[in-house]
Amino acid sequence: MSELRQDAWSGEWISFSDLRQSRPVETGAAECPFCPGEPPSHEVQDADWDVMVFENRFPGLGGAVEWPKAYGGYAARAAAGHAEVVLYSPRHDAELCDLGPRRVRQVVDVWADRTTCLARDPEVQAILIFENRGRAVGATVEHPHGQIYAYPFVPSRTAQEMGTVEAFARSTGLCLGCEVIAREIRDGSRLLFADDHALAHVPFATRFPYEVHVLVRRHVRFLADLTPAERDGLARALCQVIARYDGLFGIKLPYVMVVHQPPVRGPLARVDAHLRVAFLPPHRSANRLKVIAGSELGAGAFLTDVLPEVATQRLRGAT
Ligand SMILES: [Zn+2]
Ligand SMILES: [Zn+2]
Repeated sequence: MSELRQDAWSGEWISFSDLRQSRPVETGAAECPFCPGEPPSHEVQDADWDVMVFENRFPGLGGAVEWPKAYGGYAARAAAGHAEVVLYSPRHDAELCDLGPRRVRQVVDVWADRTTCLARDPEVQAILIFENRGRAVGATVEHPHGQIYAYPFVPSRTAQEMGTVEAFARSTGLCLGCEVIAREIRDGSRLLFADDHALAHVPFATRFPYEVHVLVRRHVRFLADLTPAERDGLARALCQVIARYDGLFGIKLPYVMVVHQPPVRGPLARVDAHLRVAFLPPHRSANRLKVIAGSELGAGAFLTDVLPEVATQRLRGAT
């Protein structure tokens, strides 16, 4: 069973898949489905590769479905789309940046290629590349990997951001991303890293205390539009952020990393949004997590207990 239902109150599409109930929960390297080994308990047989992409066997999107269904006035649709896994290496213990800048650059190239390929599916409207690192953000397999979801709709947060970007351009004639880069460089108090191609900064208003955004300095919408030098610059900036996270509390800081590209189909595909990578770590300290509770869950109104300028200073000192 796999289908999409629309929340009648918020208008958000929600994906239902009972396959996800049976996805593996790994308890150590010996049982890791992403380490090379024999099928069916392992996804990959040989170990002679750098970066590997395959369809998620326990997807939140895609899969066969009986259709159409009658739901008495509610909106539902087939869960078209794709869910892919991106393995950063055959090694169980090597995080994204442990394998050197060349490998991170290869991962950026794979992200760009997969975005271009998935965008060719006429059902796909938006593509989200992300990594859930650590059990605190729901990673069920320890082996370092990312994921790519290709949605047959534009997710609500993406739609909201596209509205903001478009309204900003209408009233100022400027790209919001280009303007944020100019403001952060001018101000400097939230800047973590900058070179000719990319910068990393703590946003002016954070939903999570140690949230960090990475922006490519030239105005580009999609990863595929990046030059080779910009791809290297993006890879460097990502590793700068992760190195600071790992130094912050002396633990491998769990995070959600999300690559924001504009929708590829539908009315919001016209929005000229600036490519951005966001890191959302749930930790407030080494052993306290930011809880998504009443105000956040009930109203979407976040409360954050560390000022972004203070978080920046802590992250700067954390290498
Ligand atoms: Zn493994
Ligand atoms: Zn821009």
